[in-house]
Amino acid sequence: MISIPFNKPFVSGKELQYIQDVINSKRISGNVKYTNLCHQLLSHHFSFKKSLLTSSCTDALEMAAILVNIQPGDEVILPSYTFVSTANAFLLRGAVFKFVDSMANNPNLDASLIENLITEKTKVIVAVHYAGFSCDMDAIMSLAKKYDLFVVEDAAQAIDNYFLDRMGNKHILGSVGNLGTYSFHETKNINCGEGGALIINDERFFNRAEIIWEKGTNRASYFRGEVDKYNWVDIGSSYLPSELNAAFLYAQLQSLELVQKKRSTIWKKYYDSFKSFFSGSKIMLPDIPSYSTNNAHLFYLVFNSLGVRTDFIEYMKSRNIQCVFHYISLHSSPLIKLNTASSSCPNSDRFTNCLVRLPLYYDLTDEEVDYIIYSVKEFFLKMQ
Ligand SMILES: *Cc1c(COP(=O)(O)O)cnc(C)c1O
Repeated sequence: MISIPFNKPFVSGKELQYIQDVINSKRISGNVKYTNLCHQLLSHHFSFKKSLLTSSCTDALEMAAILVNIQPGDEVILPSYTFVSTANAFLLRGAVFKFVDSMANNPNLDASLIENLITEKTKVIVAVHYAGFSCDMDAIMSLAKKYDLFVVEDAAQAIDNYFLDRMGNKHILGSVGNLGTYSFHETKNINCGEGGALIINDERFFNRAEIIWEKGTNRASYFRGEVDKYNWVDIGSSYLPSELNAAFLYAQLQSLELVQKKRSTIWKKYYDSFKSFFSGSKIMLPDIPSYSTNNAHLFYLVFNSLGVRTDFIEYMKSRNIQCVFHYISLHSSPLIKLNTASSSCPNSDRFTNCLVRLPLYYDLTDEEVDYIIYSVKEFFLKMQ
């Protein structure tokens, strides 16, 4: 019987070989061979100035909040429609939030709303590239320059995706702001179960980032022979992953092109099948901004009400296809309502209630994709 889950994590086949190599090497903790291989591959493939693997994107965001030196009461501007970790990392350092609404046609933050939210206490803008699609980084970076703010890109979903600036130059996402964060959670395009990376573009942070990564010690520079003993010199935590995770991730990074090719094919097939079918209807498809490429991380539909979305998820479930909704606006979460003045983000609330994600993963077969497309259309025709 056909049964299609929302996600199946990609496996390249090389993971066990590399993990065995780690076991044989007797160096299983972090920052040895495979960690370095991953760092080198990321630098080589994406021209990042510096990257550090972390145990999650959540960890990378926590490192970013420490690096930009958030103090209690500092204000952070971020979208309401995002994952909890985007905000939680800054809340741990005492930040206060100013939530930005999504655009009407795209869950990414509406950059035209940012300037009104900037005060003397604003320290950082967090740009979340939802579905991998780039935020309007020209607008965000020029505001950051004008008001002397840091920009952190939550590029958790944006591996292998690019921002096209107004001069026509291509920038890999995560490399545009002062800092960028990636996730290698099993739901992302490539994964190591739980994992992430911090991308450091601002050279002022190079040294301190390594210290925070290594529990607040200068262990990394000790291993390079730059200091003769290693000391506790700053705050930090255990943010670096073990070599077992790095070995798994290295196998995945090596297969990135293969994964991206397959995911793009599926994404395009969904899009081409639905574009004319839904034209003139109240169902919205992903609307890729002119300044963004597409890394085929998510394929979503946006219905016109919570009721229709609920019926759709139920209907697809009855066809053995798992479709799932996504974020719940952070500005209306119980924790935020308790602590912060209320704000209004109607577009974010609409995506909270009406957006649904279709299965999209490397192992989906052509027949399964056809069956999903057929079932979506069938639901829509019955709804009429
Ligand atoms: C997945 C995700 C995260 C969290 O990533 P982890 O690696 O699970 O910590 C953060 N932000 C966004 C936008 C995400 O999609």
